[in-house]
Amino acid sequence: MKTSKIILSLGLSLLSFSTVAHQCTQQDLDVVVLGSGGPEMQLFRSAPTPVSRASASYLVREKGKAVFLVDFGTGALQNFVRSGAKIEDLKGIFITHLHVDHINDLPALVKASFFSSRHHDLAIYGPTGNPFIPDTEQYLTRLLGEQGAYSYLSGFLTGDEQYQIYPISVLADHRTPMRFNTEIEGFQVSAIATEHGLLPALAWRIEKGGCRIVFSGDTSNRTHSLDHFVEAADLFIAHNAVPETSQDNVAKKLHMRPSEIARLAQQGKVKQLLLSHLMRRTEHVKAQTERIIKAQFDGKMAFANDCDVYSVATGGKKGQCGDEISD
Ligand SMILES: [Zn+2]
Repeated sequence: MKTSKIILSLGLSLLSFSTVAHQCTQQDLDVVVLGSGGPEMQLFRSAPTPVSRASASYLVREKGKAVFLVDFGTGALQNFVRSGAKIEDLKGIFITHLHVDHINDLPALVKASFFSSRHHDLAIYGPTGNPFIPDTEQYLTRLLGEQGAYSYLSGFLTGDEQYQIYPISVLADHRTPMRFNTEIEGFQVSAIATEHGLLPALAWRIEKGGCRIVFSGDTSNRTHSLDHFVEAADLFIAHNAVPETSQDNVAKKLHMRPSEIARLAQQGKVKQLLLSHLMRRTEHVKAQTERIIKAQFDGKMAFANDCDVYSVATGGKKGQCGDEISD
């Protein structure tokens, strides 16, 4: 049995990040929204026929080919398939935190990959743990390890299958102002610990060709971890899980209100803000949320829907997943 590789805090740097102006020149980078919902069973009726939202997940593509996944919540696998993405093309998976609505389709993706021709290893980056939740390596071992719930898939962790999964735990303690940085096949990837109640959580940033995409994950941003992290993002995907007027004190500790998202986006000179992780409580107050955000933020904003495809360079919606599939 090969040993799983654990890299804790690889390439950590202090917060003195360069904010040199950049120009996004890479026209062929886009993001597919694989899941725009949260953990609820929720039907929304703004479409011609009622549809449900898959839980949080995003696919970063280059030249139409899958490059990275950020989160993989319930329902994401179906939209991954609809988008025409191939697991063979993935260069890495980044998890913001280990709540069900951000991770639940991962075992299904691993099983589905058995029927693919993927032969190169796959790194899955996610947060370190704490007394309330395992770290990413423990989580994957408890699922896919030889003693795990899906031990029949353990070959993907041991290297006895056609490729090997490498879990990589990234320091996710928001009291530690360090940033994780790594380079993956020409992409700069960064993470920073964010505050999400009791759970260790990360925000992720992916950059190439002067283009910058930031994923907030679920966070209240009470520790202001995101304040510099979102700077000059061409596309900032922020989770809109509580309304401005929420009286739910627990929810407000876990998520940013629209005014906080707007403050961040404006201060960081974000070009396009995409609101995702919609829940019943935010789905029905979109007009109010839009007013609050536009009062503070000069850039473009939109609400995400499953299968939307956003250009990073222009910040605009360019289509739906599967548009390019010719069959
Ligand atoms: Zn969530």
